[in-house]
Amino acid sequence: MGTENEDEFENAASQEDELLEMDEEAQRSTDQNVEMNIFDAVRGSDGNPVDPVRLQGKDSFCFSCHKDIDCWNECCHGADITLTPNCILRLSKHFEQTAAEFLKEYTVPAMFGMADLPVAKLKMGGKDGKGACPFMSDDGCSVYEDRPATCRYYPLGILSVKHKEMAEVNDFHFLVKETHCCGHKESKEQTVDAYREEQGLEEFERVNRGWTDLLMKMASWKGLGGPWGENIDTRKKQMFFMATTDVQTFRRFVFETKFLDTYEIDEEAMAILKTDDQALLLLAFDWLKSIFFNEPTLSMKELVLQGSIAQYREETGAA
Ligand code: SF4
Ligand code: SF4
Repeated sequence: MGTENEDEFENAASQEDELLEMDEEAQRSTDQNVEMNIFDAVRGSDGNPVDPVRLQGKDSFCFSCHKDIDCWNECCHGADITLTPNCILRLSKHFEQTAAEFLKEYTVPAMFGMADLPVAKLKMGGKDGKGACPFMSDDGCSVYEDRPATCRYYPLGILSVKHKEMAEVNDFHFLVKETHCCGHKESKEQTVDAYREEQGLEEFERVNRGWTDLLMKMASWKGLGGPWGENIDTRKKQMFFMATTDVQTFRRFVFETKFLDTYEIDEEAMAILKTDDQALLLLAFDWLKSIFFNEPTLSMKELVLQGSIAQYREETGAA
């Protein structure tokens, strides 16, 4: 059962024609107790593609995509694909590039919805960005094993809802039915859970959850002008982009600046962080939660903490 706020949200949902409208409504909401995020899979702009039915894991839908289908590769043109941190990790490794090289060659910067935080989007072909994805081939997706999360979800979208005071995030799926996609006419029936497993989504959600949390939290604070009424400044936005997209630079930031003099990281964790990129991303999310929202995700070293308290007292005249 949901909380009171989630119930309100449920009621509002039933009155909306489609989930995208619901997203806009949610993002305009001044209720700061509910954090929401929609990660959809809408590729084009042909009408109202979202089926406003929430799907749970055991719910079934008919869909199949294969090379003999009339619309083969149509969805890989002009697609709006936000790359999650794990997408960038997987794709840059795929091309044996650093994250910085990958970002420069294949992405464009963008701001993510109401969170107003910088993200990278896949750069589509053509001057108007309506051309083919750089990874599209006649045989389909040339990076299939490392394809982005959005391409894995398709034709599902995911809506995450979380009450601010609670740790649990409720995810709901919904179906995106774009008119050009003939896959919905196919007879193959599968549950949402089976589709998710086939698409390897668990790893992406596990690694990206901290990033999704940050986007949800920031969007929810926006109604108050930012965390505790203060906008996130440009420098912090740049830090967010660096830490969530460029693992090599973030590793240098951790190991070659005063980071380890500031935060308590034990020896075992440090050894893992030197080589494990996904673990480093988790540290990046914890660090960002701590500097954006004062969350106790990282412990400051005692001396640094005492220095910060002394400085605060000096600046504010507090006893
Ligand atoms: S990454 Fe692959 S599946 Fe995704 S839009 Fe590009 S070609 Fe299509
Ligand atoms: S069936 Fe849908 S997902 Fe598959 S190629 Fe056609 S448009 Fe793309």
